[in-house]
Amino acid sequence: MKPREALRFPQPARGWEYVEGWGMAHGAHARVLRPQDVAGIRAAFSLARREGVPLGPRGTGNSYGDASVLTNGYVLDLSRMDRILDFDATSGVATLEGGVTIESLWKRALPAGWWPTVVSGTMYPTAGGALAMNIHGKNQYRVGTIGESVREIDLVLPTGDLVTASREHESDLFHAAIGGFGMLGIITRVVIATKHVHSGDMEVTAKSTRTLQATMDWMEARRASADYLVAWIDAFSRGETLGRGLVHAARHLKPGEDPDPALTLRIAHQELPRAILGISKGEVWRALRLFNHDPGMRLVNATKWTLGQHEEAQNPHRQSHAAFAFLLDFVPNWKWAYGRTQKRGLIQVQPFVPAARAHDVFAAILARSQAVGLVPYLAVLKRHRPDPFWLTHGLDGWSLALDYKVAPESRADLWRLAAEITRLTIEAGGRFYPAKDLVIGREDARRMWPADKLDAFLALKRRVDPTNLLQTDLSRRILG
Ligand SMILES: Cc1cc2nc3c(=O)[nH]c(=O)nc-3n(C[C@H](O)[C@H](O)[C@H](O)COP(=O)(O)OP(=O)(O)OC[C@H]3O[C@@H](n4cnc5c(N)ncnc54)[C@H](O)[C@@H]3O)c2cc1C
Repeated sequence: MKPREALRFPQPARGWEYVEGWGMAHGAHARVLRPQDVAGIRAAFSLARREGVPLGPRGTGNSYGDASVLTNGYVLDLSRMDRILDFDATSGVATLEGGVTIESLWKRALPAGWWPTVVSGTMYPTAGGALAMNIHGKNQYRVGTIGESVREIDLVLPTGDLVTASREHESDLFHAAIGGFGMLGIITRVVIATKHVHSGDMEVTAKSTRTLQATMDWMEARRASADYLVAWIDAFSRGETLGRGLVHAARHLKPGEDPDPALTLRIAHQELPRAILGISKGEVWRALRLFNHDPGMRLVNATKWTLGQHEEAQNPHRQSHAAFAFLLDFVPNWKWAYGRTQKRGLIQVQPFVPAARAHDVFAAILARSQAVGLVPYLAVLKRHRPDPFWLTHGLDGWSLALDYKVAPESRADLWRLAAEITRLTIEAGGRFYPAKDLVIGREDARRMWPADKLDAFLALKRRVDPTNLLQTDLSRRILG
């Protein structure tokens, strides 16, 4: 923000809230506006314009970094616009307000035999937030990012105009706003296709691997046949077993394979267990806290790898959609194990690297993390493909999502390591995903996205938002 604007910025008052990214490592105090309809959004724009304050859109705040945080601005929380406007059980097409969560959508769709085509590893993001980040699932290499299953969206522009955008109408806005991290307008309505399923279960096959190359080879060999592929990597393992892991491949069941689809399609069949190892799941994060240090997480990762070999011996097995897709939701608030005071927590660094370079870059990142003593506690490998959205993270390659613990004493070292990861990734022709990022800068963004697409995006931003009313800490960091 320019200094003159900063001077005018109203000072924090009663009723202001601390708004933080999901990873808790970044946050700011803000006045939070919670519109319930398009008129409320227009009123928020008018208020912001009148007071000379920028507005930062926010869904349910599941982006790890600073994507839905705004320092010296008002936060526009859209999670109250949460009505499913229509669900057509014959075509599987849903019409949603921007604040409808993935959880609400699958719970509406599944009993009728439909499942969202793309879901993230958690069910709590909103449709608007998911589209603004153009999220991907464990099936991105097959079905692309979520934007590819969207028919049309309504956006409220900072001018107050309500525009419908699709592939045929306002196509530029459609391809720029999906993945445009909320910088072009507020997504208030989404028309989205879901996928027909014949069962509430999937067939899952596990494979325990001893090296990163073996992990990638096993996944690559199943790319044409598996509906979903994801690998957990033991980031502590080094030397000859660097990158060892446990891969899960899943496929949808064909008609007739499930003896009782009426049962498995029920919500009750999908519910995640209430207790884990006898501990009520709401309390499990406290137990995890006992292991939230290097020796503890080394043990947890090694144990998981060993148990993976037993799981492989039971191949294949059946698992509900929710259990397979939302594994991370099994333990509510697991992130609290990283510490609950402000600016502690975790960052996720998720490099996306073209297929030909991915193995070497990821091996270098894992080895470098070990060498500097900052090992990710969780590492997840996925396969991807390109998509037509302007600021996409999708490419023909792989991503390795790395969760690093943030503590005041190691923060500077961690940011230095992240800068090295950024350099390695971008030099290999790779990209980062704004939903998971807290570290890259404007120059990195300029190098990772095609110049014509980024310039066209910035030109569109100037056209629809000439006074730069929509901002977040992310947009300031990577767009300037
Ligand atoms: C445990 C966990 C697992 C995850 N797994 C995955 C995964 O597998 N794949 C993946 O792709 N992502 C994953 N994510 C990231 C998550 O899906 C995205 O960050 C998603 O954008 C969060 O949606 P949200 O509603 O919480 O939006 P927020 O995080 O609140 O906001 C995200 C962005 O959208 C903008 N925004 C929000 N609502 C609107 C709106 N209505 N109109 C316009 N702009 C808006 C915000 O300004 C911000 O830039 C995961 C996150 C967590 C916490």
